[in-house]
Amino acid sequence: MYLGAHVSIAKSIALAPERGKSIGCEAIQIFTKNQRQWRAREIGGEEAKEFEENMKKNEIKEAVAHVSYLINLGSSNSELWKKSLESFMHETNRCDVLGIDHLVIHPGTNRDESEGIKRIAEGINRAIESSNVIIALETTAGQGNSIGHRFEQLSSIIELTDKKRVSVCFDTCHTYAAGYDIKESYEKVMEEFDSVIGMKHLSTIHLNDSKGSCGSHLDRHEHIGKGALGTETFRRLVNDKRLSKVPGILETPGGDEEFKKNLDTLKALRYSF
Ligand code: ZN
Ligand code: MN
Ligand code: MN
Repeated sequence: MYLGAHVSIAKSIALAPERGKSIGCEAIQIFTKNQRQWRAREIGGEEAKEFEENMKKNEIKEAVAHVSYLINLGSSNSELWKKSLESFMHETNRCDVLGIDHLVIHPGTNRDESEGIKRIAEGINRAIESSNVIIALETTAGQGNSIGHRFEQLSSIIELTDKKRVSVCFDTCHTYAAGYDIKESYEKVMEEFDSVIGMKHLSTIHLNDSKGSCGSHLDRHEHIGKGALGTETFRRLVNDKRLSKVPGILETPGGDEEFKKNLDTLKALRYSF
């Protein structure tokens, strides 16, 4: 697993790889714009070129992007859905400009599960037509009417799209809170993931310990080893050979100092082969 964290793009996106390197990242996740606004200025050619150069210079193996929190492709409100799609397409195109392969998105919310799944798939299909990026649907904790807390929901979305273009981001906190016990039954959950979705669709991991217990539906991240999942769960994850080429991104609280500590903790869990 390429270990990393979500890093800031303050001042310039091009600075993100260096920020990652300075805290020990082998992979990074970024927002490509302010995550609480719908629009953003275009990314300049110079900034994009510098970003790609800095990825190499700082030996960052992979950068993934995460979409804005405002987007809801599952929405039954057609105005919000259209606005979400527009913003989502804007983000897929930003990934193309930056040479980023994977874009993480929370699938969306809708009181009607099957309507939500159809709308999400339609939004994805429209967006990937005009972009090269691979979408990574994030597993959710199942709070409110969020879709993506059951592997079956993610697989239904993928079934309605161009399968080669849609993958899954497995968030350890969310998946556990959703009721998949990766602490007590790690192998069983991974086998279930493989049979329902398929391991080849697992493109990204979010490495977060969980404040909430299994099945709590609580989306509260905790530092590695300090939460309900505990150190042993992360030892399994970082040494899982099926995940050896997958970026594992921290989204734990507290900023860069804390990321560095969590990265050190994770690296110490690696077996040397
Ligand atoms: Zn997320
Ligand atoms: Mn996450
Ligand atoms: Mn979360």
